[in-house]
Amino acid sequence: MNRPDSLTRFNNEEFDICIIGAGASGAGCALDAVLRGYKVALIDKKDFASETSSRSTKLIHGGVRYLEQAFKKLDFAQLKQVRHGLEERHIVLKNAPHLARPLALMTPVSSWFEGLYFKIGLQLYDAFAINDTLPKSKWLSKKEVLDKIPTLDPKKLHSGVLYYDGQLDDARYCLAIVQSASEQGAAVANYMEVNGFEKNESGKLVAVNAVDTRSGNNYTIKAKLVINCTGPFADHIRLLANPALPERLRPSKGVHVMLPAKTLNSEYAMLIPKTSDGRVVFAIPFEGATMIGTTDTEYNKVSEEPMLNEEEKQYLAATLNPYLAKPVELSELRSGFGGLRPLLSADPGKSTKSLVRDHEIELDEKTGLLSLLGGKWTTYRLMAKDTIDEADAIFSQQKPCITDAHILAGGEHFDRESWRKLATDFALSDEVARHLMSKYGSRAGKVATIARDNSLLAEKLSPEYPYLKAEVVYAVRTEMAVTLRDFLARRVRMEITDWKETLNVLPVVASLMARELEWTEEQEKKELAEYAALIQKFIAGAQLA
Ligand SMILES: Cc1cc2nc3c(=O)[nH]c(=O)nc-3n(C[C@H](O)[C@H](O)[C@H](O)COP(=O)(O)OP(=O)(O)OC[C@H]3O[C@@H](n4cnc5c(N)ncnc54)[C@H](O)[C@@H]3O)c2cc1C
Repeated sequence: MNRPDSLTRFNNEEFDICIIGAGASGAGCALDAVLRGYKVALIDKKDFASETSSRSTKLIHGGVRYLEQAFKKLDFAQLKQVRHGLEERHIVLKNAPHLARPLALMTPVSSWFEGLYFKIGLQLYDAFAINDTLPKSKWLSKKEVLDKIPTLDPKKLHSGVLYYDGQLDDARYCLAIVQSASEQGAAVANYMEVNGFEKNESGKLVAVNAVDTRSGNNYTIKAKLVINCTGPFADHIRLLANPALPERLRPSKGVHVMLPAKTLNSEYAMLIPKTSDGRVVFAIPFEGATMIGTTDTEYNKVSEEPMLNEEEKQYLAATLNPYLAKPVELSELRSGFGGLRPLLSADPGKSTKSLVRDHEIELDEKTGLLSLLGGKWTTYRLMAKDTIDEADAIFSQQKPCITDAHILAGGEHFDRESWRKLATDFALSDEVARHLMSKYGSRAGKVATIARDNSLLAEKLSPEYPYLKAEVVYAVRTEMAVTLRDFLARRVRMEITDWKETLNVLPVVASLMARELEWTEEQEKKELAEYAALIQKFIAGAQLA
């Protein structure tokens, strides 16, 4: 991916399709469209996956809670959503096996009756998952549950129901989709904010006006069709094109907190089946930490980044603690993050937690703007397929969708054990080799080569994490990392797992990026100070001393 090349193409070419927003939805649409032979531009006002798509619970799932609601309320829309999620689950796992993996989840229960209820429910969940090879659910004894998650409180535990879903590194998965689209010929760029449109005499969109927020330069990207994939920000773009459109989005805030891995001391995740506000909460091992989430509250300030606050921190700890033998101390909290669900509602009276997570495609007849609204990570490919099918209809074409069989960047010839060969070939520790393989897949050798060619870059960024200095260089040269946050929050996931260590490694990352991107000393200082101030704001917001 080469940003200057893409910017030149935006000035010189006319595209079939310009996609606004490079989260899961926009990246998925770009790959689908380019594989069908369309000439595609993909732009985002910030970084790829910088909004909701890097701040999810990271589950590839049909949603056990949605299944429960579907049966309790005889809600067929929820049932369809579960079926779609489970149909897509195995494709998400198969197409980027380095970034997505099966995840075992334990549901602890406090009575025989509760165990039976969840066993029947999860057996139904299994039955919806046709075409996939994940193990089926199992009802386990108390001893078996404690063997798997030793930190649970034996006094309150009767038994547990184990089931499987998928887990992905959401930000890197999105990046792999963008990289794949780019490798197929799409022009992609981050930090391109759409601020207007050009229309022809009949009012149809013919070009997108965007500003490169890094340089301040303006671009007019000509395109026959514009697709709006801006998730929770979709109303802004819809109304920018046609102010007469009614608002559709009901964004809802969800936060997660990160605790040390010893909280569960397990590779198994846990589903807390009932919270005080009638939802489910997960405790999931992720990147050497235990991630707890999420909340669900209406959020109207979409222009402000949703941050973890003191009340949410207390709520998540209070939800988890009754299950643990030793309650978590809030002082152990390492970090947290918030995201906005792009929920859709025609009924302002409904609570956000009852809204279906399904997607909808809207064609504004007046301007020709196509908007992909709602949805979830798990179904991103299906959402993209439905959107580009609609684009096909607009172009009077019938090009087949082939994304179900398209292996994403880094997933080619991937073998779970190949980290061993990487470790031997490049004299890397097992920890580093495993990390590189799990993030870059079949391209891990390219990062290892940078480290081998310069011993300074073979050093780790932090003694506590397997991240190498070489990854900063690779991220800038190959993955279009432009800011410190691009690297620390999304190319590696340190910002979301450990705020204090993020601050510690910041000067080194800044100096490596400054050299690669030819920043002046003044710019390096400014980038460092701004990002450090943001992390300090997160720490203060969550009242972490
Ligand atoms: C707390 C939480 C937990 C979740 N957990 C899960 C889960 O476990 N599994 C699951 O399947 N789903 C989950 N989801 C849902 C899933 O994360 C989202 O549905 C999905 O990421 C939305 O992707 P998107 O591309 O539509 O939106 P986004 O990822 O928000 O992307 C929209 C993009 O548009 C860009 N943009 C906005 N305005 C402009 C503009 N003017 N010009 C250019 N670009 C612009 C933004 O910068 C952004 O990158 C969760 C969501 C939340 C909030």
